Amino acid sequence: MDIVEAQELMRRIYYQRDSTRGVDRTLIRTFEELGELSDAVLRRKNHAAIADEMADVLAWVCSFANLLNVDLSAALAKKYNGVCPRCKKAPCECTDTP
Ligand SMILES: [Zn+2]
Repeated sequence: MDIVEAQELMRRIYYQRDSTRGVDRTLIRTFEELGELSDAVLRRKNHAAIADEMADVLAWVCSFANLLNVDLSAALAKKYNGVCPRCKKAPCECTDTP
């Protein structure tokens, strides 16, 4: 499944519910899912558990993007157009980030 398909899937499954919940609460839920992913990683949970949490994070980002009418695939392609958006290299050669 690619990003376009993922975003469309989340739209088909959750858009109605996401619309009712609204942007602010959907953003909060997205951060909660990031917290769950963080917890899974820091507690050294197994790969499957981490992958499951990562899927949740992406699903919530897709839901959030749907509410804001952001085409994630297009936004990603525009910002990361084959190179790092800051140093314009691939791989990145930025020296000011770890
Ligand atoms: Zn860079």
